[in-house]
Amino acid sequence: MDQQELWQAVLAQVQLEISPANFATWFQNTSIVSQDKGSIIVSVPSGFTKEWLEQKYNKSILKKLHGIDNAIKNVKYKVEKSNLQILEKVTDTILDDEEQLNFYNFQIQEKTNLNPKYTFDNFVTGPFNELAHAASWAVTQKPGKVYNPLFIYGGVGLGKTHLLQAIGNEIIKRKKDNKVKYIPTEKFVSEIISAIHNGKVEELRIEYQKINTLIVDDVQFLSGKEKTQEEFFFIFNSLYGKNKQIILSSDRSPKSISILTERLRSRFEGGMIADISTPKLETKIAILKSKCLERKVDISEEILNYIAENIKRNIRELEGALNIILAHQKLNDKTPNLATVKTLLRNITATPKKSVNAQKIIHTVANFYNLSVKDISSSSRKKEIVKPRQIAMYLLREELKSSFPFIGRRFGGKDHTTAIHSYNKILKEIKKNEKLEEEIELIKHNILCV
Ligand code: ADP
Ligand code: MG
Repeated sequence: MDQQELWQAVLAQVQLEISPANFATWFQNTSIVSQDKGSIIVSVPSGFTKEWLEQKYNKSILKKLHGIDNAIKNVKYKVEKSNLQILEKVTDTILDDEEQLNFYNFQIQEKTNLNPKYTFDNFVTGPFNELAHAASWAVTQKPGKVYNPLFIYGGVGLGKTHLLQAIGNEIIKRKKDNKVKYIPTEKFVSEIISAIHNGKVEELRIEYQKINTLIVDDVQFLSGKEKTQEEFFFIFNSLYGKNKQIILSSDRSPKSISILTERLRSRFEGGMIADISTPKLETKIAILKSKCLERKVDISEEILNYIAENIKRNIRELEGALNIILAHQKLNDKTPNLATVKTLLRNITATPKKSVNAQKIIHTVANFYNLSVKDISSSSRKKEIVKPRQIAMYLLREELKSSFPFIGRRFGGKDHTTAIHSYNKILKEIKKNEKLEEEIELIKHNILCV
Protein backbone atom coordinates (compact mmCIF):
# COMPACT_ATOMS: atom_id res chain seq x y z
CA MET A 1 0.00 0.00 0.00
CA ASP A 2 1.52 3.36 -0.93
CA GLN A 3 0.97 6.64 0.92
CA GLN A 4 -1.94 7.61 -1.20
CA GLU A 5 -3.70 4.29 -0.77
CA LEU A 6 -3.03 4.33 2.93
CA TRP A 7 -4.65 7.74 3.33
CA GLN A 8 -7.57 6.74 1.17
CA ALA A 9 -8.17 3.74 3.35
CA VAL A 10 -8.20 6.01 6.40
CA LEU A 11 -10.57 8.46 4.73
CA ALA A 12 -12.93 5.71 3.70
CA GLN A 13 -13.25 4.75 7.35
CA VAL A 14 -13.54 8.31 8.64
CA GLN A 15 -16.25 8.95 6.12
CA LEU A 16 -18.38 6.27 7.72
CA GLU A 17 -18.16 7.86 11.11
CA ILE A 18 -18.90 11.51 10.52
CA SER A 19 -21.45 13.54 8.60
CA PRO A 20 -20.81 14.29 4.92
CA ALA A 21 -20.59 18.00 5.74
CA ASN A 22 -17.97 17.49 8.43
CA PHE A 23 -16.08 15.13 6.22
CA ALA A 24 -15.95 17.63 3.38
CA THR A 25 -15.02 20.49 5.72
CA TRP A 26 -12.17 18.86 7.56
CA PHE A 27 -10.77 16.29 5.20
CA GLN A 28 -10.96 17.99 1.85
CA ASN A 29 -7.51 18.58 0.38
CA THR A 30 -5.65 16.53 2.91
CA SER A 31 -3.02 13.95 2.04
CA ILE A 32 -0.06 12.12 3.43
CA VAL A 33 3.08 13.95 2.39
CA SER A 34 5.63 11.87 4.13
CA GLN A 35 6.02 8.69 6.05
CA ASP A 36 9.13 8.15 8.04
CA LYS A 37 9.17 4.95 10.06
CA GLY A 38 6.44 5.41 12.65
CA SER A 39 5.69 9.04 11.79
CA ILE A 40 3.20 10.28 9.29
CA ILE A 41 2.87 13.84 8.10
CA VAL A 42 -0.49 14.86 6.76
CA SER A 43 -0.73 17.98 4.73
CA VAL A 44 -3.77 20.18 5.31
CA PRO A 45 -4.97 23.30 3.53
CA SER A 46 -5.24 25.73 6.47
CA GLY A 47 -4.16 26.44 10.01
CA PHE A 48 -7.74 26.09 11.09
CA THR A 49 -8.02 22.60 9.66
CA LYS A 50 -4.71 21.69 11.27
CA GLU A 51 -5.93 22.77 14.68
CA TRP A 52 -9.25 21.01 14.25
CA LEU A 53 -7.75 17.74 13.12
CA GLU A 54 -5.23 17.85 15.96
CA GLN A 55 -7.86 18.50 18.56
CA LYS A 56 -10.85 16.54 17.35
CA TYR A 57 -9.79 13.81 15.03
CA ASN A 58 -6.21 12.99 15.84
CA LYS A 59 -6.96 9.99 18.02
CA SER A 60 -9.33 8.49 15.52
CA ILE A 61 -6.97 9.08 12.58
CA LEU A 62 -4.04 7.56 14.41
CA LYS A 63 -6.09 4.54 15.41
CA LYS A 64 -7.05 3.90 11.81
CA LEU A 65 -3.51 4.35 10.51
CA HIS A 66 -2.20 2.08 13.22
CA GLY A 67 -4.92 -0.44 12.39
CA ILE A 68 -3.65 -0.65 8.84
CA ASP A 69 0.05 -0.44 9.58
CA ASN A 70 0.92 -1.08 13.20
CA ALA A 71 4.36 0.47 12.80
CA ILE A 72 2.67 3.88 12.67
CA LYS A 73 2.90 5.57 16.04
CA ASN A 74 2.20 9.24 15.46
CA VAL A 75 0.72 11.74 13.05
CA LYS A 76 1.56 15.38 12.51
CA TYR A 77 -0.30 17.92 10.45
CA LYS A 78 1.34 20.48 8.24
CA VAL A 79 -0.24 23.42 6.45
CA GLU A 80 0.47 23.30 2.77
CA LYS A 81 -1.53 25.24 0.23
CA SER A 82 -1.11 23.12 -2.83
CA ASN A 83 -1.22 19.47 -2.16
CA LEU A 84 -2.42 16.42 -3.94
CA GLN A 85 -6.09 17.08 -3.38
CA ILE A 86 -6.94 13.46 -3.06
CA LEU A 87 -10.01 14.33 -1.19
CA GLU A 88 -11.49 16.33 -4.00
CA LYS A 89 -11.62 12.98 -5.62
CA VAL A 90 -13.18 11.43 -2.55
CA THR A 91 -15.85 14.08 -2.19
CA ASP A 92 -16.48 14.05 -5.90
CA THR A 93 -16.90 10.35 -6.03
CA ILE A 94 -18.55 9.79 -2.72
CA LEU A 95 -20.55 12.88 -2.01
CA ASP A 96 -21.48 14.34 -5.35
CA ASP A 97 -22.28 11.14 -7.07
CA GLU A 98 -25.96 11.17 -7.71
CA GLU A 99 -26.66 7.56 -6.87
CA GLN A 100 -24.83 7.86 -3.62
CA LEU A 101 -26.66 11.02 -2.77
CA ASN A 102 -29.93 9.35 -3.48
CA PHE A 103 -28.94 6.53 -1.28
CA TYR A 104 -27.61 8.44 1.66
CA ASN A 105 -29.51 11.67 1.67
CA PHE A 106 -33.04 10.48 1.94
CA GLN A 107 -34.99 13.11 3.73
CA ILE A 108 -36.36 12.14 7.08
CA GLN A 109 -40.03 13.08 6.98
CA GLU A 110 -40.76 15.81 9.44
CA LYS A 111 -44.22 14.77 10.55
CA THR A 112 -43.68 11.06 10.80
CA ASN A 113 -39.95 10.99 11.59
CA LEU A 114 -39.68 8.20 9.07
CA ASN A 115 -36.72 7.65 6.82
CA PRO A 116 -37.94 6.34 3.44
CA LYS A 117 -34.76 4.36 2.90
CA TYR A 118 -36.06 1.66 5.23
CA THR A 119 -38.52 -0.50 3.34
CA PHE A 120 -39.71 -4.08 3.19
CA ASP A 121 -38.22 -4.32 -0.29
CA ASN A 122 -34.70 -3.91 0.98
CA PHE A 123 -35.18 -5.98 4.13
CA VAL A 124 -33.69 -9.44 3.72
CA THR A 125 -35.35 -12.26 5.60
CA GLY A 126 -33.96 -15.52 6.89
CA PRO A 127 -34.68 -17.91 9.73
CA PHE A 128 -33.28 -15.39 12.21
CA ASN A 129 -35.92 -12.72 11.57
CA GLU A 130 -38.75 -14.52 9.79
CA LEU A 131 -41.28 -14.26 12.55
CA ALA A 132 -40.61 -10.57 13.20
CA HIS A 133 -40.85 -9.89 9.49
CA ALA A 134 -44.10 -11.80 9.02
CA ALA A 135 -45.73 -10.14 12.02
CA SER A 136 -44.60 -6.72 10.81
CA TRP A 137 -46.00 -7.29 7.36
CA ALA A 138 -49.30 -8.48 8.81
CA VAL A 139 -49.54 -5.27 10.81
CA THR A 140 -49.16 -3.15 7.68
CA GLN A 141 -52.08 -4.96 6.08
CA LYS A 142 -54.49 -4.37 8.94
CA PRO A 143 -53.13 -1.76 11.31
CA GLY A 144 -54.66 -2.01 14.76
CA LYS A 145 -56.49 -5.21 13.93
CA VAL A 146 -54.10 -8.14 14.10
CA TYR A 147 -51.22 -7.78 16.51
CA ASN A 148 -51.51 -4.97 18.96
CA PRO A 149 -49.09 -4.02 20.25
CA LEU A 150 -46.40 -5.61 18.12
CA PHE A 151 -43.25 -5.94 20.20
CA ILE A 152 -39.99 -6.72 18.41
CA TYR A 153 -36.81 -7.42 20.28
CA GLY A 154 -33.22 -8.39 19.53
CA GLY A 155 -29.61 -7.25 19.93
CA VAL A 156 -27.91 -4.16 18.52
CA GLY A 157 -27.67 -3.70 14.75
CA LEU A 158 -29.95 -6.59 13.82
CA GLY A 159 -32.65 -4.68 11.99
CA LYS A 160 -35.21 -3.57 14.57
CA THR A 161 -35.23 0.06 13.51
CA HIS A 162 -35.23 -0.95 9.86
CA LEU A 163 -38.29 -3.12 10.37
CA LEU A 164 -40.17 -0.60 12.49
CA GLN A 165 -39.57 2.14 9.96
CA ALA A 166 -40.51 -0.16 7.10
CA ILE A 167 -43.86 -0.77 8.79
CA GLY A 168 -44.45 2.97 9.07
CA ASN A 169 -43.46 3.61 5.46
CA GLU A 170 -45.62 0.78 4.18
CA ILE A 171 -48.68 1.90 6.14
CA ILE A 172 -48.38 5.42 4.72
CA LYS A 173 -47.89 4.02 1.24
CA ARG A 174 -51.13 2.10 1.54
CA LYS A 175 -53.08 4.79 3.29
CA LYS A 176 -51.78 8.32 2.98
CA ASP A 177 -53.97 9.76 5.72
CA ASN A 178 -52.89 7.28 8.36
CA LYS A 179 -51.02 9.45 10.86
CA VAL A 180 -47.86 7.56 11.63
CA LYS A 181 -45.34 8.70 14.19
CA TYR A 182 -41.99 7.07 14.74
CA ILE A 183 -40.15 8.09 17.87
CA PRO A 184 -37.01 6.79 19.57
CA THR A 185 -37.68 6.28 23.28
CA GLU A 186 -34.95 8.71 24.31
CA LYS A 187 -36.69 11.44 22.35
CA PHE A 188 -40.04 10.47 23.82
CA VAL A 189 -38.58 10.67 27.32
CA SER A 190 -37.19 14.12 26.70
CA GLU A 191 -40.49 15.32 25.20
CA ILE A 192 -42.30 14.20 28.32
CA ILE A 193 -39.78 15.67 30.70
CA SER A 194 -39.95 19.02 29.00
CA ALA A 195 -43.77 18.90 28.85
CA ILE A 196 -43.86 18.24 32.59
CA HIS A 197 -41.37 21.03 33.16
CA ASN A 198 -43.36 23.52 31.08
CA GLY A 199 -46.77 22.45 32.34
CA LYS A 200 -47.76 21.21 28.90
CA VAL A 201 -48.60 17.60 29.58
CA GLU A 202 -52.17 18.05 28.45
CA GLU A 203 -51.08 19.45 25.08
CA LEU A 204 -48.72 16.55 24.61
CA ARG A 205 -51.46 14.05 25.36
CA ILE A 206 -53.73 15.75 22.84
CA GLU A 207 -51.01 15.62 20.21
CA TYR A 208 -50.56 11.89 20.74
CA GLN A 209 -54.30 11.29 20.53
CA LYS A 210 -54.20 12.27 16.87
CA ILE A 211 -51.88 9.44 15.95
CA ASN A 212 -53.10 6.32 14.14
CA THR A 213 -49.87 4.34 14.25
CA LEU A 214 -47.40 4.94 17.06
CA ILE A 215 -43.95 3.42 16.70
CA VAL A 216 -41.64 3.62 19.69
CA ASP A 217 -38.08 2.37 19.21
CA ASP A 218 -35.84 1.03 21.99
CA VAL A 219 -38.33 1.00 24.86
CA GLN A 220 -35.71 -0.56 27.14
CA PHE A 221 -34.77 3.07 27.80
CA LEU A 222 -38.01 3.51 29.72
CA SER A 223 -36.48 1.39 32.43
CA GLY A 224 -36.46 3.22 35.73
CA LYS A 225 -38.14 6.36 34.36
CA GLU A 226 -41.29 6.27 36.39
CA LYS A 227 -42.89 9.53 35.36
CA THR A 228 -42.36 8.80 31.69
CA GLN A 229 -43.77 5.32 32.09
CA GLU A 230 -46.87 6.78 33.67
CA GLU A 231 -47.39 9.12 30.75
CA PHE A 232 -46.59 6.40 28.27
CA PHE A 233 -49.14 4.15 29.94
CA PHE A 234 -51.76 6.85 29.52
CA ILE A 235 -50.95 7.41 25.84
CA PHE A 236 -50.74 3.69 25.20
CA ASN A 237 -54.14 3.01 26.75
CA SER A 238 -55.98 5.75 24.98
CA LEU A 239 -54.59 4.76 21.58
CA TYR A 240 -55.06 1.07 22.23
CA GLY A 241 -58.63 1.67 23.34
CA LYS A 242 -59.33 3.22 19.97
CA ASN A 243 -57.73 0.33 18.08
CA LYS A 244 -54.78 2.39 16.97
CA GLN A 245 -51.69 0.38 16.09
CA ILE A 246 -48.75 0.44 18.48
CA ILE A 247 -45.37 -0.98 17.57
CA LEU A 248 -42.48 -1.24 19.99
CA SER A 249 -38.91 -2.42 19.88
CA SER A 250 -36.40 -3.24 22.56
CA ASP A 251 -33.04 -4.92 22.90
CA ARG A 252 -34.63 -7.46 25.27
CA SER A 253 -37.98 -9.07 25.92
CA PRO A 254 -40.56 -7.22 28.04
CA LYS A 255 -39.86 -9.65 30.89
CA SER A 256 -36.23 -8.67 30.92
CA ILE A 257 -36.73 -4.92 31.03
CA SER A 258 -35.96 -4.14 34.63
CA ILE A 259 -37.73 -1.44 36.57
CA LEU A 260 -40.75 -1.42 34.33
CA THR A 261 -44.07 -1.03 36.09
CA GLU A 262 -46.04 -4.24 36.04
CA ARG A 263 -49.00 -2.68 34.30
CA LEU A 264 -46.85 -1.42 31.45
CA ARG A 265 -45.05 -4.75 31.15
CA SER A 266 -48.33 -6.58 30.88
CA ARG A 267 -49.43 -4.11 28.20
CA PHE A 268 -46.26 -4.84 26.23
CA GLU A 269 -46.91 -8.54 26.50
CA GLY A 270 -50.55 -8.20 25.52
CA GLY A 271 -50.07 -8.47 21.76
CA MET A 272 -47.48 -10.20 19.64
CA ILE A 273 -43.86 -10.60 20.70
CA ALA A 274 -41.31 -11.51 18.03
CA ASP A 275 -37.56 -11.71 18.37
CA ILE A 276 -34.71 -11.24 15.92
CA SER A 277 -31.59 -13.31 16.46
CA THR A 278 -28.31 -13.24 14.52
CA PRO A 279 -28.15 -14.29 10.88
CA LYS A 280 -26.21 -17.36 9.77
CA LEU A 281 -23.63 -17.29 7.02
CA GLU A 282 -25.98 -17.79 4.05
CA THR A 283 -28.28 -15.00 5.17
CA LYS A 284 -25.33 -12.70 5.74
CA ILE A 285 -24.20 -13.31 2.17
CA ALA A 286 -27.74 -12.68 0.95
CA ILE A 287 -27.81 -9.39 2.83
CA LEU A 288 -24.49 -8.31 1.35
CA LYS A 289 -25.67 -9.21 -2.13
CA SER A 290 -28.84 -7.24 -1.65
CA LYS A 291 -26.84 -4.20 -0.52
CA CYS A 292 -24.58 -4.51 -3.59
CA LEU A 293 -27.59 -4.70 -5.85
CA GLU A 294 -29.13 -1.69 -4.20
CA ARG A 295 -26.00 0.32 -4.88
CA LYS A 296 -25.44 -1.15 -8.30
CA VAL A 297 -21.97 -2.43 -7.50
CA ASP A 298 -20.38 -5.72 -8.16
CA ILE A 299 -18.20 -7.46 -5.59
CA SER A 300 -16.78 -10.92 -6.03
CA GLU A 301 -18.22 -13.94 -4.19
CA GLU A 302 -14.81 -14.50 -2.64
CA ILE A 303 -14.84 -11.09 -0.99
CA LEU A 304 -18.48 -11.29 0.06
CA ASN A 305 -17.74 -14.65 1.63
CA TYR A 306 -14.76 -13.24 3.45
CA ILE A 307 -16.85 -10.41 4.89
CA ALA A 308 -19.74 -12.68 5.87
CA GLU A 309 -17.44 -15.15 7.56
CA ASN A 310 -15.45 -12.60 9.45
CA ILE A 311 -18.04 -10.08 10.51
CA LYS A 312 -19.85 -11.91 13.23
CA ARG A 313 -21.61 -9.43 15.39
CA ASN A 314 -24.41 -7.79 13.48
CA ILE A 315 -25.79 -6.45 10.24
CA ARG A 316 -24.73 -2.89 10.89
CA GLU A 317 -21.11 -4.00 10.95
CA LEU A 318 -21.65 -6.08 7.86
CA GLU A 319 -22.83 -2.95 6.09
CA GLY A 320 -19.95 -0.93 7.52
CA ALA A 321 -17.46 -3.41 6.11
CA LEU A 322 -19.07 -3.25 2.71
CA ASN A 323 -19.02 0.55 2.80
CA ILE A 324 -15.30 0.59 3.46
CA ILE A 325 -14.70 -1.65 0.47
CA LEU A 326 -17.01 0.36 -1.78
CA ALA A 327 -15.33 3.62 -0.82
CA HIS A 328 -11.98 2.09 -1.63
CA GLN A 329 -13.30 0.73 -4.89
CA LYS A 330 -14.65 4.12 -5.98
CA LEU A 331 -11.42 5.86 -5.21
CA ASN A 332 -9.29 3.42 -7.10
CA ASP A 333 -11.69 2.58 -9.85
CA LYS A 334 -11.17 -1.08 -9.24
CA THR A 335 -12.28 -3.71 -6.78
CA PRO A 336 -9.69 -4.34 -4.10
CA ASN A 337 -8.28 -7.86 -4.02
CA LEU A 338 -8.72 -10.14 -1.06
CA ALA A 339 -5.41 -9.16 0.52
CA THR A 340 -6.35 -5.48 0.44
CA VAL A 341 -9.81 -6.28 1.78
CA LYS A 342 -8.22 -8.09 4.70
CA THR A 343 -6.10 -5.04 5.49
CA LEU A 344 -8.98 -2.65 5.07
CA LEU A 345 -11.15 -4.63 7.44
CA ARG A 346 -8.51 -5.43 9.99
CA ASN A 347 -9.97 -3.01 12.52
CA ILE A 348 -13.39 -4.60 12.53
CA THR A 349 -12.54 -8.23 12.08
CA ALA A 350 -9.99 -8.36 14.89
CA THR A 351 -11.14 -10.99 17.35
CA PRO A 352 -13.34 -9.32 19.92
CA LYS A 353 -12.03 -11.47 22.76
CA LYS A 354 -8.97 -9.25 22.95
CA SER A 355 -10.95 -6.26 24.09
CA VAL A 356 -13.01 -8.16 26.63
CA ASN A 357 -11.75 -7.72 30.14
CA ALA A 358 -13.11 -8.02 33.67
CA GLN A 359 -13.95 -4.35 33.86
CA LYS A 360 -15.90 -4.44 30.61
CA ILE A 361 -17.90 -7.47 31.74
CA ILE A 362 -18.76 -6.00 35.13
CA HIS A 363 -19.65 -2.67 33.60
CA THR A 364 -21.89 -4.23 30.95
CA VAL A 365 -23.73 -6.42 33.44
CA ALA A 366 -24.27 -3.47 35.78
CA ASN A 367 -25.51 -1.36 32.90
CA PHE A 368 -27.86 -4.06 31.70
CA TYR A 369 -29.54 -4.15 35.08
CA ASN A 370 -29.48 -0.41 35.60
CA LEU A 371 -27.01 -0.65 38.44
CA SER A 372 -23.73 1.10 39.04
CA VAL A 373 -20.44 -0.80 39.18
CA LYS A 374 -20.32 0.21 42.84
CA ASP A 375 -23.71 -1.40 43.51
CA ILE A 376 -22.81 -4.63 41.87
CA SER A 377 -19.48 -4.87 43.70
CA SER A 378 -21.02 -4.05 47.08
CA SER A 379 -21.97 -6.67 49.65
CA SER A 380 -25.67 -5.87 49.47
CA ARG A 381 -27.96 -8.88 49.78
CA LYS A 382 -30.80 -7.23 47.88
CA LYS A 383 -32.30 -9.53 45.28
CA GLU A 384 -31.97 -6.93 42.50
CA ILE A 385 -28.23 -6.80 43.15
CA VAL A 386 -27.40 -10.39 44.08
CA LYS A 387 -28.56 -11.85 40.79
CA PRO A 388 -26.65 -9.45 38.52
CA ARG A 389 -23.57 -9.96 40.70
CA GLN A 390 -23.81 -13.72 40.27
CA ILE A 391 -24.21 -13.29 36.54
CA ALA A 392 -21.15 -11.06 36.38
CA MET A 393 -19.15 -13.65 38.31
CA TYR A 394 -20.42 -16.38 36.03
CA LEU A 395 -19.39 -14.41 32.94
CA LEU A 396 -15.92 -13.68 34.30
CA ARG A 397 -15.43 -17.41 34.66
CA GLU A 398 -17.03 -18.34 31.33
CA GLU A 399 -15.59 -15.63 29.13
CA LEU A 400 -12.19 -14.98 30.68
CA LYS A 401 -11.53 -18.22 32.56
CA SER A 402 -10.73 -16.09 35.60
CA SER A 403 -9.77 -17.94 38.76
CA PHE A 404 -12.35 -18.05 41.54
CA PRO A 405 -10.11 -16.20 44.04
CA PHE A 406 -9.62 -13.46 41.43
CA ILE A 407 -13.37 -13.25 40.87
CA GLY A 408 -14.01 -13.02 44.60
CA ARG A 409 -11.47 -10.21 44.94
CA ARG A 410 -13.01 -8.24 42.05
CA PHE A 411 -16.27 -8.12 43.95
CA GLY A 412 -15.22 -6.29 47.07
CA GLY A 413 -12.90 -8.95 48.46
CA LYS A 414 -15.32 -11.84 48.67
CA ASP A 415 -14.22 -15.33 49.40
CA HIS A 416 -13.50 -17.70 46.49
CA THR A 417 -16.28 -20.02 47.71
CA THR A 418 -18.79 -17.23 47.03
CA ALA A 419 -17.52 -17.04 43.47
CA ILE A 420 -17.79 -20.82 43.03
CA HIS A 421 -21.28 -20.81 44.47
CA SER A 422 -22.39 -17.99 42.15
CA TYR A 423 -20.92 -19.63 39.10
CA ASN A 424 -22.56 -22.98 39.79
CA LYS A 425 -25.86 -21.40 40.64
CA ILE A 426 -26.11 -19.54 37.33
CA LEU A 427 -24.78 -22.51 35.39
CA LYS A 428 -27.55 -24.65 36.82
CA GLU A 429 -30.26 -22.05 36.45
CA ILE A 430 -29.53 -21.31 32.80
CA LYS A 431 -30.38 -24.90 31.95
CA LYS A 432 -33.89 -24.62 33.22
CA ASN A 433 -34.66 -20.91 32.85
CA GLU A 434 -34.98 -19.77 29.27
CA LYS A 435 -35.44 -16.16 30.20
CA LEU A 436 -32.15 -16.13 32.09
CA GLU A 437 -30.43 -17.82 29.21
CA GLU A 438 -31.72 -15.15 26.86
CA GLU A 439 -30.64 -12.37 29.20
CA ILE A 440 -27.13 -13.75 29.42
CA GLU A 441 -26.94 -14.09 25.64
CA LEU A 442 -27.91 -10.43 25.33
CA ILE A 443 -25.36 -9.37 27.90
CA LYS A 444 -22.67 -11.31 26.02
CA HIS A 445 -23.74 -9.58 22.84
CA ASN A 446 -23.52 -6.20 24.57
CA ILE A 447 -20.08 -7.00 25.95
CA LEU A 448 -18.85 -7.43 22.39
CA CYS A 449 -20.80 -4.71 20.64
CA VAL A 450 -21.78 -1.82 22.81
P1 ADP B 1 -31.15 -2.13 15.28
O1 ADP B 1 -32.24 -1.10 15.30
O2 ADP B 1 -31.64 -3.51 15.58
O3 ADP B 1 -29.98 -1.75 16.11
P2 ADP B 1 -30.93 -1.37 12.51
O4 ADP B 1 -32.34 -1.54 12.08
O5 ADP B 1 -30.47 0.02 12.73
O6 ADP B 1 -30.61 -2.24 13.78
O7 ADP B 1 -30.01 -2.10 11.42
C1 ADP B 1 -28.65 -1.80 11.23
C2 ADP B 1 -28.34 -1.73 9.76
O8 ADP B 1 -28.47 -3.00 9.17
C3 ADP B 1 -29.29 -0.80 9.01
O9 ADP B 1 -28.57 -0.07 8.07
C4 ADP B 1 -30.27 -1.75 8.33
O10 ADP B 1 -30.74 -1.22 7.13
C5 ADP B 1 -29.42 -2.98 8.11
N1 ADP B 1 -30.24 -4.19 8.21
C6 ADP B 1 -30.64 -4.80 9.34
N2 ADP B 1 -31.37 -5.89 9.08
C7 ADP B 1 -31.42 -5.99 7.74
C8 ADP B 1 -32.04 -6.93 6.84
N3 ADP B 1 -32.71 -7.98 7.30
N4 ADP B 1 -31.89 -6.72 5.52
C9 ADP B 1 -31.20 -5.67 5.08
N5 ADP B 1 -30.60 -4.76 5.85
C10 ADP B 1 -30.71 -4.91 7.17
MG1 MG C 1 -32.35 0.67 16.40
